[in-house]
Amino acid sequence: MHRSYDEILKEHKLSLTSVRLSVLRAVEKHAHADVNAIYAYVTKEISTASKQAIYNNLHTLVEHGIVREINPTGSAALYEFECHDNHHHLICRSCEQIVDVDCKENRPCLSPESNHGFVIDEAEVTFWGLCPNCQNTTKGNQDE
Ligand SMILES: [Zn+2]
Ligand SMILES: [Zn+2]
Ligand SMILES: [Zn+2]
Repeated sequence: MHRSYDEILKEHKLSLTSVRLSVLRAVEKHAHADVNAIYAYVTKEISTASKQAIYNNLHTLVEHGIVREINPTGSAALYEFECHDNHHHLICRSCEQIVDVDCKENRPCLSPESNHGFVIDEAEVTFWGLCPNCQNTTKGNQDE
């Protein structure tokens, strides 16, 4: 059980607007959704919501560490709830499905060879490859 959206927003002194709450529901329902998917969800609830309002809300939520933004190379930014677990992502090159994957125990990627005096709290690691389904499809095509 996590805290209610109201509590989270109050804690960050953010106003409880209907669009903001809807954006949070969208992010919760569709982990790793891009802005278009979030926009589609929100406008189902609030038909007057503008895309700019969605962008602004996402920006604020990311700034406050409530939502995490993932930026896979060559793909649109994706959003999910920030759970501060430094988890990473596996992305299939073919069907683009995304799977959460835990960082190794003791989080080795947060301890690079040299931190240049930085205090590091997150490593954005994306693993690219082919998911089991797409591996089978590829093999199937080769057999023909
Ligand atoms: Zn795939
Ligand atoms: Zn994730
Ligand atoms: Zn890691």
